[in-house]
Amino acid sequence: MVKVVKPPRNDKLPLTRPVIGVAGKTGLWRNMKPLVNNVKCTRCYQCEIYCPVNAINVEPETGAMINYDYCKGCGLCMDVCPSGAITMIPETGE
Ligand code: SF4
Ligand code: SF4
Repeated sequence: MVKVVKPPRNDKLPLTRPVIGVAGKTGLWRNMKPLVNNVKCTRCYQCEIYCPVNAINVEPETGAMINYDYCKGCGLCMDVCPSGAITMIPETGE
C-alpha cells in the first residue's frame, strides 16, 4: 500500500524557475502583462502552480511576485486567481 506523505504547511512545490536560454529573456514576446494587487491576494498559490513558465513566486510576506523577464502575458494567472487580484494590462515596454 502506498503511503501518502503530506508536505508541511507552507512547503513549496519544487518548481523549476526559468533561466536565460537561447531565446534570451522570453518576456520580450509579450503584448499584455499581468498586474497583481497584493492587498487582494490571499496567498493561495494557484497562479504560481498554473503559470506555464513558472514566472510567478508567491511568498506569505510579499504575495505574488511576477518575473517579467520571462512572463509571456498569456493571462492564465488572471484566469485561475480566485480573488480577482490579477488584471492584464497592455505592455508598454516600461
Ligand atoms: S501571464 Fe502567463 S506567463 Fe505571465 S505570469 Fe501569468 S500565467 Fe505566467
Ligand atoms: S492566485 Fe491570486 S490570490 Fe492566489 S496567490 Fe495568486 S494572486 Fe494571490
